[in-house]
Amino acid sequence: MRGWVHEFAATVIRPAGSEWDEREETPWPILEEASKIGLYALDFFAQQAFEPSGLGIVVAFEELFWGDAGIALSLVGSSLAAVSLVSNGTNEQIGEWAPQMFGSPGDVKLAAFCSSEPDAGSDVGAIRTRAVYDEAKDEWVLNGTKTWATNGGIANVHIVVASVDPTLGSRGQASFIVPPGTRGLSQGQKFRKHGIRASHTAEVVLDDVRVPGRCLIGGKDRLDARLARVREGGRSGEQAAMKTFEASRPGVAAMAVGVARAATEYATEYARERVQFGHPIGQNQGVAFMLADMGASVDAARLLTWRAAWMARQNKPFEHAEGSMCKLVAGETAVRVTEQAIQILGGNGYTREYPVERWHRDAKIFTIFEGTSEIQRMIIGRALTGLPVR
Ligand SMILES: Cc1cc2nc3c(=O)[nH]c(=O)nc-3n(C[C@H](O)[C@H](O)[C@H](O)COP(=O)(O)OP(=O)(O)OC[C@H]3O[C@@H](n4cnc5c(N)ncnc54)[C@H](O)[C@@H]3O)c2cc1C
Repeated sequence: MRGWVHEFAATVIRPAGSEWDEREETPWPILEEASKIGLYALDFFAQQAFEPSGLGIVVAFEELFWGDAGIALSLVGSSLAAVSLVSNGTNEQIGEWAPQMFGSPGDVKLAAFCSSEPDAGSDVGAIRTRAVYDEAKDEWVLNGTKTWATNGGIANVHIVVASVDPTLGSRGQASFIVPPGTRGLSQGQKFRKHGIRASHTAEVVLDDVRVPGRCLIGGKDRLDARLARVREGGRSGEQAAMKTFEASRPGVAAMAVGVARAATEYATEYARERVQFGHPIGQNQGVAFMLADMGASVDAARLLTWRAAWMARQNKPFEHAEGSMCKLVAGETAVRVTEQAIQILGGNGYTREYPVERWHRDAKIFTIFEGTSEIQRMIIGRALTGLPVR
């Protein structure tokens, strides 16, 4: 599987990276090509997600992001939305909506996961988007503004996290499926970004969006039972947005590992070829030691990622915040290593003629989305000390 994905990354994704970064658009023709070979497909992601070792997704993501992070995020953005459906949804919901998140060759579709809001980024409990149940019609009515949604507004299926009972903070939230073509959902501002520019990021406006009762992820009985438990003062681990983030952290870490590995390989090759003072620059300890640190930290980040992915697959709880650990280390490794790669390429590294400046811009996202580095440290700090670190 790794060889097959790598081949696609090397021959299709990598050569197109610069073009789609400049265009700042979703690379539909590449999605189409990936769909044709079964790489952009629900079956592929499901097969890798349920692969017994737990390494299927992280190995695939590392290869895709080794190719180019912006294009790769367009290819895996839907799977991140699918995780929120699969980790909380009923079998009927998964069967009905997951295929519509990917479409089919000739009719490729996307999905979006909409949690963040202008006043609720790290603070997921501050979500203001409201979901109100209209019992007479068995419909949920959604109102609010989401921001930073990958594929927001251009997706076929949107998953929206909304507050059902605002007095309960994040424990009063639930996720909803917004089916294709639903009235009242529109795209707001599309963001022009520092990196991962081939991935579409936009606001999503929800104006009296009505969805059928069956679009509440997990179903109403489960939600009512959970809210009753919370109101009685019991704890409930099921926080809609947090559950999605936990499940997707090793995958996001693997993306960062892919970018970091690409930069390390590129800089290594360059250091072997580029001659100054009569010898390859890699022969200087100053450069070779930098490469040594880069190589070692990429492998360390990968091993933390594989540990978390393996644990998740074996249903071992992240008691020491292993998911956050891999996301934190891999994200910061990608930023540092891509910066070092620019340094090794010198002036060339600073130009758009070489890919490392783009990879550095791309890498920065991994310390921000799916929980910033500070939030990961907060989670790890809590897990290690048992104290309510804030
Ligand atoms: C390109 C891109 C794609 C994205 N895709 C999606 C998506 O598909 N769906 C989605 O729902 N969201 C998405 N996001 C949103 C992303 O998850 C948020 O940007 C992120 O959670 C941070 O929230 P914020 O931007 O509001 O920053 P803030 O929460 O305002 O944080 C600002 C700074 O304050 C720090 N900070 C905040 N609280 C604390 C604390 N308690 N202790 C220490 N430091 C703290 C943060 O670490 C950060 O450095 C995306 C974002 C980007 C940029």
